[in-house]
Amino acid sequence: MSVTQLSRIDVMRPWLGAAEAEAVAEAIASGWIAQGPRVAEFEREFSTMMRTRHAVATSNCTTALHLALVVAGIGRGDDVVVPSLSFIATANAPSYVGARTVFADVDPDTGNVTAATISQALTPATRAVIAVDQGGQPVDLEAVRAVCDPRGIVVIEDAACGAGSTYRGRPVGAGAELAAWSFHPRKILTTGEGGMLTTSRADWAARARRLREHAMSASAAERHRYLAAPPEQYDEIGFNFRMTDLQAAVGLVQLKRLPAMVRRRRELAARYRAALADVPGLRVVTDPPWGASNFQTLWIEVGEAYALDREGLLAGLADHGISARRGIMAAHRQPAYAGRDTGDARLEVTDRLTDRTLILPLFHELTEDEQDRVIAAVREPGSR
Ligand SMILES: *Cc1c(COP(=O)(O)O)cnc(C)c1O
Repeated sequence: MSVTQLSRIDVMRPWLGAAEAEAVAEAIASGWIAQGPRVAEFEREFSTMMRTRHAVATSNCTTALHLALVVAGIGRGDDVVVPSLSFIATANAPSYVGARTVFADVDPDTGNVTAATISQALTPATRAVIAVDQGGQPVDLEAVRAVCDPRGIVVIEDAACGAGSTYRGRPVGAGAELAAWSFHPRKILTTGEGGMLTTSRADWAARARRLREHAMSASAAERHRYLAAPPEQYDEIGFNFRMTDLQAAVGLVQLKRLPAMVRRRRELAARYRAALADVPGLRVVTDPPWGASNFQTLWIEVGEAYALDREGLLAGLADHGISARRGIMAAHRQPAYAGRDTGDARLEVTDRLTDRTLILPLFHELTEDEQDRVIAAVREPGSR
């Protein structure tokens, strides 16, 4: 059989439908397409669902992380500890405010930082930590905060992948002073591009709201209420990190889909786990004791006892028309970080996971027949 006879199975596909298209059409018909009433409504709904006090929509999660560091007062001379095992945006954010990125290792079960890996990476200049819910796995935030809070270190939760995951019975992000979220199509909810900053502090929310809109004293939406708007003022140098009402219209529909999306992903993840449990040398990521993952990323670790190495399995799956992906990247191995002093912590687990893990297809509309094809190909990588 040739590859062309097999229908392709993607690693991820966003779940979008007619409701999103209608919502965008309504926004266009309303005449207000930039940041306006739909962004405000999306912020309220998101905040309610994630049980956070304040939500500020942004253009993406990278800009939300940038704003989080600004409102937390992080800048030149400060160190920010982050996992190397994350999408590059986590490592880059401290540079945007002139701070130094210091890498911490992760726990092999979840791929997340822990109290111990953070402790090993702390320096006298550490003023913030970015703790990631990697691939949707909830980070043990209370343990990390127990190390950081007494030292006055701000913990920012990078919940880019975390919408719909829970930590100790609450949505991830709910227990953080600051959390950043992504609505990129590779994540869970999508608005095309888009992000959110959530925070427990009213003063940080108010400053982030101004900063994302050029630090303007009154938002464009507020000024629109007047025929002759009063003059605005710019008290500091801000940014344009706004989301549009077109994106928020999509986001409002996507929020309604979230519970069904998470339910389905967890079903499919459990099916993978059951079907691959007895394969020697394979380990399938699973919920940690303190929470439930949305399985935004379903990764497996390919160990010595498996028939192939990770690259071999990736190629074997491609032969079967299945698009898998290498596991989470390690920022410390990228050229962008080669010449930099990023601290002294050993990153052994990070190196192992980035070399040996592989991401299997998982998305809302993946059928059980398609999943069975993936399972068969992983179980018997040589056969076609
Ligand atoms: C995707 C991702 C980001 C960046 O999100 P964008 O919305 O694309 O800017 C940041 N952190 C993590 C952990 C991510 O997975």
